[in-house]
Amino acid sequence: MNALFAAWNQRMAALARSCGSRRQRLGMLLALSISLLPLSPARSQPAPPEGATRSAGVAPEAASVKMTVQNLGGGVYFVQGESAMGSAANQNFISNAAFVVADGGVLVVDALGSPPLAQRLLQEIRRITPLPLRYAVVTHYHADHIYGLQVFRAAGARVVAHVAAREYIGSDVARQRLAASREELFPWVDEHTEVVEPDLWLGADGQEEMTLKIGRSEFLLRHVGPSHTREDLVVYMPQTGLLFAGDLVFRDRIPFVGQADSGRWIAALDRLIALQPRTVLPGHGPVSQDPAPDLRLTRDYLDHLRRSMGEAARNLEPFEEAYAHTDWSRFEALPLFRAVNRMNAYNTYLLMENEAR
Ligand SMILES: [Zn+2]
Repeated sequence: MNALFAAWNQRMAALARSCGSRRQRLGMLLALSISLLPLSPARSQPAPPEGATRSAGVAPEAASVKMTVQNLGGGVYFVQGESAMGSAANQNFISNAAFVVADGGVLVVDALGSPPLAQRLLQEIRRITPLPLRYAVVTHYHADHIYGLQVFRAAGARVVAHVAAREYIGSDVARQRLAASREELFPWVDEHTEVVEPDLWLGADGQEEMTLKIGRSEFLLRHVGPSHTREDLVVYMPQTGLLFAGDLVFRDRIPFVGQADSGRWIAALDRLIALQPRTVLPGHGPVSQDPAPDLRLTRDYLDHLRRSMGEAARNLEPFEEAYAHTDWSRFEALPLFRAVNRMNAYNTYLLMENEAR
């Protein structure tokens, strides 16, 4: 296990050294374009009812959406969001979260997409254990995984994330995203919803790995970005072979590529495949008890995007033409294909144009 991570360390250090500044600028541009895209449809939401907001400092009502806690054994529990785009109708329950009840406390992985969803998850935790919340680990700072953080912090958890998230947290992109979410997702995300800064940063000391301990349980946090985001981290439990993979792994839907560095995302997935986890908890979609093929599906999708769009970019073929004749048959039956595949392909086309220069 440690040897694997040591090899991983070397590989990731090499990748970090090869990171070019033009590529980083492109990433920022794409991040901005993605964050601005959903702004316009939000205006069509009906006006919120008078007096529907909470007063500041009051714990939110719990979300009423169906949330089934799956007991995976060994004190590990998982909730699975819908395979859908976030909306007020689904209360933004579109991502997964998990918690581990260890001897002496609870560790939560990801915080769901609104304070009411987190409140609901907290109620579920309290049905199972009175033990204190010790940590809320954030796999990455995308809206659907972080807007519940304030609930877990108020309940006593220390928020943990990778230091690469710092740039996003203080950015205009984060502010614009939150402003858009407050409209699109009202009343689940409202003026009391905040982007919470971590209490504990992985990577602040230059180390890309950190172990959190609760009683006899160990949680190995490992930075695997930049890939889906710059700050992606995974949580591995060596004693059980359980891997919380965040949005490095999507199941039962088309991945959201956004401003991802898909080349490094593929490399990170290869490291996860080599780790041979027994069970994988993805950021979206069901738990995988057969991780290799499930990890490979996300990998193959990214690879297909890069090959098809890379060839078009190298041949100076216009995007629309390339998109039209690309064979999408392997992926088009997956949920959200129509909603996100074209945007994923376009972002990859721009990325490949830039990589070809
Ligand atoms: Zn996500």
